[in-house]
Amino acid sequence: AQLDTLDLIVLAVLLAGTVAYFTKGTYWGIPKDPYAGSYSSANGSKPGKTRNILEKMDQSEKNCVVFYGSQTGTAEDYASRLSKEGSQRFGLKTMVADLEDYDYENLDTFPDDKLAVFVLATYGEGEPTDNAVDFYEFVTGNEVSFSNGGGVDEKPLRNLKFVAFGLGNNTYEHYNSMVRRVNDALVKLGASRIGTAGEGDDGAGTMEEDFLAWKEPMWTELSEKMGLEEREAVYEPVFSITERDDLDADADEVYLGEPNKNHLEGSQKGPYNSHNPYIAPIAESREVFTVKDRNCLHMEIDVKGSNLTYQTGDHIAVWPTNAGKEVDRIINVLGLAEKRHSVISVKGLDPTAKVPFPTPTTYDAAIRYHMEICGSVSRQFVSSLAPFAPNEETKAEMTRLGSDKDYFSDKVSSQYLNIAQVLEKVDSVNKWTNIPFSIIIEGIHKIQPRYYSISSSSLVQKDKISITAVVETIRVPGSENIVKGVTTNYLLALKQKQHGDPNPDPHGLTYAITGPRNKYDGFHVPVHVRHSNFKLPSDPSKPIIMVGPGSGVAPFRGFIQERAAQAEAGEKVGQTILFYGCRKSSEDFLYKEEWEHYKQALGSSFKLFTAFSREQREKVYVQQRLQENAALVNQLLEKEKGNFYVCGDASNMARAVSDVLGKIVSEQRGVSVEKGEEIVKMMRSGNQYQEDVW
Ligand code: FAD
Repeated sequence: AQLDTLDLIVLAVLLAGTVAYFTKGTYWGIPKDPYAGSYSSANGSKPGKTRNILEKMDQSEKNCVVFYGSQTGTAEDYASRLSKEGSQRFGLKTMVADLEDYDYENLDTFPDDKLAVFVLATYGEGEPTDNAVDFYEFVTGNEVSFSNGGGVDEKPLRNLKFVAFGLGNNTYEHYNSMVRRVNDALVKLGASRIGTAGEGDDGAGTMEEDFLAWKEPMWTELSEKMGLEEREAVYEPVFSITERDDLDADADEVYLGEPNKNHLEGSQKGPYNSHNPYIAPIAESREVFTVKDRNCLHMEIDVKGSNLTYQTGDHIAVWPTNAGKEVDRIINVLGLAEKRHSVISVKGLDPTAKVPFPTPTTYDAAIRYHMEICGSVSRQFVSSLAPFAPNEETKAEMTRLGSDKDYFSDKVSSQYLNIAQVLEKVDSVNKWTNIPFSIIIEGIHKIQPRYYSISSSSLVQKDKISITAVVETIRVPGSENIVKGVTTNYLLALKQKQHGDPNPDPHGLTYAITGPRNKYDGFHVPVHVRHSNFKLPSDPSKPIIMVGPGSGVAPFRGFIQERAAQAEAGEKVGQTILFYGCRKSSEDFLYKEEWEHYKQALGSSFKLFTAFSREQREKVYVQQRLQENAALVNQLLEKEKGNFYVCGDASNMARAVSDVLGKIVSEQRGVSVEKGEEIVKMMRSGNQYQEDVW
């Protein structure tokens, strides 16, 4: 019998349906930029995405997922490096996953031939990073309820094999507590860990080396347990880069640095958050140091009409733009100068690969607005670039840098070189044109917004957010190199421009101040607000003690501004004690005149104790002033249940202040030193002692 047209159509549809069913749609798997969703929606939600990790792994045929809990991008970077190494060296089918993108109720059905890797940063006072809060609470919760659940299964995760690495800082009390607690929780639920639970220490400056030293034995054990065979790693690009001859840089659909689609279309829309910054006018900017060679900026950022709200003690995030000099440096060394404004489309070659910026864009825009090109360089990244060196000699040098820890430290890390400086140094003659742009996107972190403790009170100026930022300029000892902080120098340039300051940066930095398509013209800066737990007591009559040397005074200006306003409004305001320190009262004494004004409003309840470290032969710091006022400090804390706040340098000051307080408590209350420390610990857990340190 002959088939007529209708039969053919019916058959074709049936066949297509069958193929779709058995291939789970992989033939339809047009590699879609999985980030397109997040850039097209203002709030970063990703429409149509599954939150079921097992479904996702099945769909994309993966057997290893590397989850990250990341705040500043380092954990995310380590996760993608592990993922890549797992795939290239061991043939694992890996994917990277943001912890906040998935649910965990089905971890008990995670099959034993698959692997979960957790790369977890610890944030602040032993807290999970923002994107890991739900996961953390779920696995460490008292009653973890899995989907298979019910009954009294004590070991619901017995099939789960996992690997764990933590990023922490030993100067904080709860060192690497995130990875420790998650590891304990998973093991308790029956999961089996492969390798040790690694711990990287930012405090000792050994994060990168700790990571490198941890991962090798982990891979060995993993290969044995999962029967993997190591092979010679061959670079496989994660992204495809297509040069778009059909598009000009000024075409409407080309991203020239706009953070997402709203911004591209010219109508920024809220809600504004970590995926969607508000391009805020800078209402005012001024210098608050009185010395020539160091800068501290006070800025008032206008958020009126944006629906952005803040509370005294919150943080504002500033989205930086790289300095033109550094953008030029990397563009030149990669041999991209001729085509820096050519349009490129970047796509993940695998559906789980996220393109870290919206495209189509240009090389210039991607580098200027989205890549942390000035950051420190990892040995592993240098090693991965070796095969693309211009010649054998430079290849050998890159390989040596990549494999010899001490040599790398001597030539690269101790000099604070960025990646373009490394390439320039290794080969100052030839351009590195063989380096695929994909590896640059993979190897250089996504640029991170920098946080600033808001230095105003929301009660006094709800629509204007103040920041107090010390401009970072570091002369590297024993080197010609001068490291200029990315964000603070960008803000300095904005301030100089706003004041028509004729003095350009002495180190030749210039910035695209007016932003993509001049959208930041008239002095605007992209920002969002992050809420914090660093808060004044709700009852203003409670005393407060604040320790904030240097820029650590930022949130306390906000606290004191608020209490002064409350006092002026006739409210009863408790003792307000500030311990402040800097080098010299004539150089870097922040808000010197303003304190006088607050003193008038608050009367004798305001006390300012200062420590100027360089005004006498012996250096004096805030801790000494605290000790000198031990009786007062103890009385306010013990008798009047006042709050104690510390803000600023995490590595030395915060620890020293905590130790001194332990001693004060022990002496004043006549208890042992250990008991004094325990009381301070209890004050911390009860929120009587709060830190905002970085
Ligand atoms: P970056 O470019 O980030 O450089 C910072 C440092 O990194 C450099 O000084 C250098 O030590 C190192 N570095 C940079 N490049 C390299 C390299 N190639 N090799 C090796 N090392 C390198 N700061 C304030 O001034 N005021 C505040 O109120 C304030 N509040 C904060 C609140 C929070 C919660 C946090 C987390 C931080 C806060 N900070 C504050 C710090 C602020 O976020 C920034 O870190 C700071 O301003 C420096 O940013 P930057 O982009 O200018 O410098």
